[in-house]
Amino acid sequence: MEERIAQLEQKALKLEPEAAFRNNVYKASTAYANHFYETVSEQKAYQKEEAGAIKDIFNDPIKDEPEQIDSVLEFLDTKVVPQGLNPASGNHYGYIPGGGIFSGAVGDYLAAVTNRYAGVYFASPGAVALETRLVNWMAEMIGYTGNYGGYLASGGSMANLTAIHTAREHAELKAADIPKSVVYLGEQTHHCVARALKICGLKECVMRYIPLDDHYRMKPEALQESIAEDVADGLNPWLIVASAGTTDLGAIDPIGEIAAIAQKHDVWYHVDAAYGGFFMLIEENGKQFKGIEKADSVVLDPHKGLFLSYGTGALIVKNVDHLVKAHDYDANYMQDTKEEQLPYSPADVSPELSKHFRGLRMWLPLKLHGVDAFRSSLEEKMLLTQYAWKKLEEHPEVEVSTMPDLTTFTFRWKPSGLDNYDAINKQLHRTILEEGAIFLSTTSIKGGFWFRFTVLSVRTHKAEIDHFLDVLEKHIKKIS
Ligand SMILES: *Cc1c(COP(=O)(O)O)cnc(C)c1O
Repeated sequence: MEERIAQLEQKALKLEPEAAFRNNVYKASTAYANHFYETVSEQKAYQKEEAGAIKDIFNDPIKDEPEQIDSVLEFLDTKVVPQGLNPASGNHYGYIPGGGIFSGAVGDYLAAVTNRYAGVYFASPGAVALETRLVNWMAEMIGYTGNYGGYLASGGSMANLTAIHTAREHAELKAADIPKSVVYLGEQTHHCVARALKICGLKECVMRYIPLDDHYRMKPEALQESIAEDVADGLNPWLIVASAGTTDLGAIDPIGEIAAIAQKHDVWYHVDAAYGGFFMLIEENGKQFKGIEKADSVVLDPHKGLFLSYGTGALIVKNVDHLVKAHDYDANYMQDTKEEQLPYSPADVSPELSKHFRGLRMWLPLKLHGVDAFRSSLEEKMLLTQYAWKKLEEHPEVEVSTMPDLTTFTFRWKPSGLDNYDAINKQLHRTILEEGAIFLSTTSIKGGFWFRFTVLSVRTHKAEIDHFLDVLEKHIKKIS
């Protein structure tokens, strides 16, 4: 047996390579990363999937024997990375871009190297404190004081799910209460909220989609009326979800007015600020976010507004006790962890136990660049959006939605003498994607086909916007 152990050890040690191996892998990976950053502005924003390459990925054997870093990176570079949308491109205007910044990537790398167990304070006080520090920074931005808390989730969807679970636990809804319990949403609320309600077993709640005003913001009077009617009918209003930056139109609901209504009726008030939250860093935007500090819970997405690579969302709750209570657990093998009371651990306030040390990918960029760089970039994106909006609004053949609150609006091509707008805009979208110089996603507004335009990639600057306008014009001319 001992001989076998020695043999196996020799093989197992391959998993812990020496400096020469590491340096070789660093060199090749750093060269790859440098090449990526140096060419990203020329890379396509969209490339249709190549069926052959996808087949190669499926058929590529996972072998018993090792392969060389150069050939593996070559495979990544030719088969995997260039397929589909390029989220790192500054010419990406679809969905909600972010870009992904270098310093965040290095944070991820260091998190993986040190592999701190960021779930439990007992196991990793430093990593947990660092994550809590970031949560506190976001809480202070929101304007919370006192007993706030939260955690870094993998994204906005998971953070919203955790918020809704917490709200339900707080309301102490039993299965029998669900059909009489009412949720109030905007007509443009992100679909992950309805999905979170479904996952939480709440899809049989009464759902009230509150109408929006001309700027696509929730009408507080309509909300107030709806709640009053429901109370009179013996129903149980328990949750209001407002948006601070709707996905399609970037509209910010009247946060403060809704807060007052929630308070009056003692209803949990959740604000989904996954897209728009970090625009609070710009002082002039304070007015639009006024009252957000009255929300019971707020979701933010650092992988949008802080330009981090995918995998970072955040839930911040006004009273962390609700979050702890909603995630209370007991397990014999966790007894060591229970002795430490403060600070609370991510594992106490979320469904995750073993978790990625996400904080490092957010902390390192904030440290290395300073908040002002993020604030300036966000303000730049707002002005770029207004610049693009104005150009399109002046365009004789383009129809735009209202002036955006943030960095998103919709538009469509509307040439005179034609009325099949949906068909020609679908054709315009196809030809834009075929070329792939820019990427736009689309949406349906009142049943019509519209382009969505969102400026939030860290790599979008004035030159990219002018390029976008040129590309759009070129394609309009081509199919006119
Ligand atoms: C992006 C977004 C979400 C979902 O967040 P993910 O990080 O994609 O899971 C939820 N709500 C709003 C308003 C969003 O913009």
